[in-house]
Amino acid sequence: MIPGARLIILGRQGAGKGTQCVRLSRHFVVPHISTGDMLRAAAREGSELGLMAKQIMDEGGLVGDEVMIGLVDERLRKPDSDSRGYILDGFPRTVAQAKALEVATGEKPIHVVIDLDVPREIVLERLSSRRVCRDCGTNYTAEADERRMWLCDVCGGDVEHRADDTPDAVNRRLDLYESQTAPLIQHYSRMGTLAVVNGVGHPDHVFKRLCDAVDARR
Ligand code: ADP
Ligand code: ZN
Repeated sequence: MIPGARLIILGRQGAGKGTQCVRLSRHFVVPHISTGDMLRAAAREGSELGLMAKQIMDEGGLVGDEVMIGLVDERLRKPDSDSRGYILDGFPRTVAQAKALEVATGEKPIHVVIDLDVPREIVLERLSSRRVCRDCGTNYTAEADERRMWLCDVCGGDVEHRADDTPDAVNRRLDLYESQTAPLIQHYSRMGTLAVVNGVGHPDHVFKRLCDAVDARR
């Protein structure tokens, strides 16, 4: 049996977390829990949570800690993540969320926290050409002046420019990353669970570095 894993992936917007998490999730046979995907799904369903979150997301802000903690806590209790583990993508994003996660994980603590490191200049370039499938979350790269919509190769869903990938929202999200999320890197480093992985280069090479970092620590 392939051993499971409990992983957190940190990294700037556009570092490639989504793409790499899909691969890691297959490799380690664990669910990919993306809080951004969960909120976007809720927004499409039009639930109360979804409508509230959509406005905040489009502006590039952060949804409140209490709401996020409740959402993730409930997800981690499901049998798949409880038995095999998970990859958390987009959570924790604040110190309060990290503390709540430590309580929620209890006797099954996180094995590795990965910092997928890509400099700000590079992610800014990547985000301006990023297109995302609204149904399955697969990422694509568009040409500079690409305007048309296209269909996802994986699921046939609509591939679109995310409403929060505008220059203003991107800058706001990157600033929030530096002020709210980057402090977690020091926190996990002190706890001895951090692995910094270089996210620049071909996705296959980045994936290999990620697997090696997990295998060395799990
Ligand atoms: P990105 O990391 O590219 O901003 P995500 O898909 O991870 O994209 O998240 C999209 C948006 O969802 C965030 O900008 C934020 O508004 C909200 N969000 C996701 N996860 C969290 C979280 N843990 N805490 C607060 N807000 C969150
Ligand atoms: Zn798709």
